[in-house]
Amino acid sequence: MNQRLQKLQAWMKENGIEVSFITSSENVFYLSGFFSNPHERLLALAVFQEEEPFLVCPGMEVHDVKASGWNQEIIGYSDIENPWKLVHTSINKRISHVRNVAIEKEHMNVERYEQLTALFPGAAFVSAEEKMRKLRMIKDAKELKIIEEACALADYAIEVGCSEIKEGRTELEVLNAVEYALKQKGVTEMSFSTMVLTGANAASPHGNPGSTKIKKGDLVLFDLGVVVDRYCSDITRTVAYGDINDKQKEIYDTVLKGQLAAVEASKPGVTAAEVDLTARRIIADAGFGEYFPHRLGHGLGISVHEYPSMTETNPLVIEEGMVYTIEPGIYVPGVAGVRIEDDVFITADGAKVLTKFPKELQIIR
Ligand code: MN
Ligand code: MN
Repeated sequence: MNQRLQKLQAWMKENGIEVSFITSSENVFYLSGFFSNPHERLLALAVFQEEEPFLVCPGMEVHDVKASGWNQEIIGYSDIENPWKLVHTSINKRISHVRNVAIEKEHMNVERYEQLTALFPGAAFVSAEEKMRKLRMIKDAKELKIIEEACALADYAIEVGCSEIKEGRTELEVLNAVEYALKQKGVTEMSFSTMVLTGANAASPHGNPGSTKIKKGDLVLFDLGVVVDRYCSDITRTVAYGDINDKQKEIYDTVLKGQLAAVEASKPGVTAAEVDLTARRIIADAGFGEYFPHRLGHGLGISVHEYPSMTETNPLVIEEGMVYTIEPGIYVPGVAGVRIEDDVFITADGAKVLTKFPKELQIIR
């Protein structure tokens, strides 16, 4: 049994939970080492306090599960079989009386929930999500190494993006060039849809790249991430194409000052709220408070958004081993949108910045 499963089992014992029925691809992967996106088909990991866990998956993936290193029971089902019957039989072989079942309530759908209530009549359903988030929040050395690799590729992507900025190029043309270069390096997946935004588009925190052409005096915002061995990176850089005006410069300098201060404030023992507020106060004092409409950042790992959530009200204490983003932004409609985002790893001495592309304003000529 691996250590992650043992930690989950210890939690189940403490809380009187007889079965954890884990169905999200990310948590199945975290606990079993097997990743699959089964679409509408059932993929699940059933964990018990003492008995052997089992993984249920589409029959055609059984070979892949074995290849991933999972050496406990695998239940494959064909497209004409009812997987719930197999689940029922396998659980009954292990335990008889179930009072509490842990599921991922945010991930579970009603159809599956009804199947489970039929399997465990009278049982209470509790959330496994909070526990899973806490387990995943602290990264081990192996996870850190993978995330560092993903961050190095994200740095490379920004470098390519900057070299592709030319008068009249569209956002999509630059985006294409960036993703092409990454695929040439063997990258198969981005953490989310790559963003290249310029001019007025950059003033929306979640804008959509399109046919807008880059022109002199514009800021260009890149927000992207690379997936390596199922782990995500996430970087944002905003660069200038030619000379920008004083207001744009002031906005850039303010975001940078807030970003650097939040990196500096990140260390074990402070709260997520204190880190967020370090940047937020600087931005508010400069008069841009209302133009910073989102949280400072988010945890990062198998999911591009996970714990900790870096909000101005989160009392969560920062610990060694956490990985999160620091990404303040200022978006003034019609003037400029600037965001600077790094991924950091928390060590005993403070934040180690994993994304290394320069943050001083880059002016592309
Ligand atoms: Mn981002
Ligand atoms: Mn982010």
